[in-house]
Amino acid sequence: MYVLGIETSCDETAVAIFHSNKGLVHHLLYSQIDMHSEYGGVVPELASRDHIRKLIPLVKQLLQESGLVNADLGGIAYTAGPGLMGALLVGAATARSMAWALQIPAVAVHHMEGHLLAPMLEDKPPQFPFLALLISGGHTLLVHVNGIGQYKLLGESLDDAVGEAFDKTAKMLGLGYPGGPKLSALAELGTEKIRFPRPMTDRPGLDFSFSGLKTFAMNTINASPKTEQDKADIAASFQAAIADTLSIKCRRALRQTGLNRLVVAGGVSANTQIRAALTLMAAGENADIFFPRAQFCTDNGAMIAYAGCQRLIAGQIIEGQAITARPRWPMMELSAID
Ligand code: ATP
Ligand code: MG
Ligand code: FE
Repeated sequence: MYVLGIETSCDETAVAIFHSNKGLVHHLLYSQIDMHSEYGGVVPELASRDHIRKLIPLVKQLLQESGLVNADLGGIAYTAGPGLMGALLVGAATARSMAWALQIPAVAVHHMEGHLLAPMLEDKPPQFPFLALLISGGHTLLVHVNGIGQYKLLGESLDDAVGEAFDKTAKMLGLGYPGGPKLSALAELGTEKIRFPRPMTDRPGLDFSFSGLKTFAMNTINASPKTEQDKADIAASFQAAIADTLSIKCRRALRQTGLNRLVVAGGVSANTQIRAALTLMAAGENADIFFPRAQFCTDNGAMIAYAGCQRLIAGQIIEGQAITARPRWPMMELSAID
């Protein structure tokens, strides 16, 4: 069965086709970053309008380049939440209308389940059960994963998400939007000269807090002469603190759960220093570690097509015919696939 995946939860219009036996067929992405960067962040109304402009042409291009026609599709998966309401509704309306016209099922996919399952698209996919660290623009989650939809929340950020901390600190350093990848590039030119705190690592538990790092960065920037080298050193110090904090918490979670597989996904998992630190930590714990390829760390259609395909195969259609979206949708509410 060919499943079309549609992702429009934020500022990426992304589509893909996943086949239940053949795997990933094709994927395309149009990023709105250039449009939003002028405003220093995502403008929700502009995002919705741009999804409307870009989505259908992108689906047509995807099918054409895949050598497929509408009638070849067996189902349509779309991101139903969490995300920006208007942006989500564009994907939901398009997916449900297409599915209705083609008389095929549509399936509402949880965006974070998409991120979580993205490493399944790689050559060596992880087996269940595993520990998952989801680090993205809006989420920081540690999850015990027993199967698709079988999630136990072990820890989360009590304030800013990791990606958010990266973006805000990057903004303070004058790096523009989205700052995560830019801060990471700048950090390459610096060294860890300043010791940033490792928040909440000195007490038990698996929750995170990153808003203090942002404040620490602000004070450090204000107190520094702000040469290019100073900025690079601050970026490197900030990034090292994040990498270290994530490693400490993942090590603790591996030990507590006894799991020996770690999946790391979401936009921030593209960060090379974080990948390296977590890989080193996992090796020390005799755990296998799994990441998506870099382009599937951030938002993409492939992860949505994959997640939707798994739920369609299991005969699971999360909601009825109504076109709805859920800007807030706790991942732990998802039902299990047996
Ligand atoms: P969510 O998935 O929580 O709904 P989102 O979809 O906006 O949020 P993603 O697309 O998964 O988030 O990831 C985007 C985030 O990842 C941004 O905060 C961005 O700065 C960050 N990011 C991307 N690449 C890197 C990198 N190399 N280093 C650090 N951060 C990065
Ligand atoms: Mg994005
Ligand atoms: Fe995302």
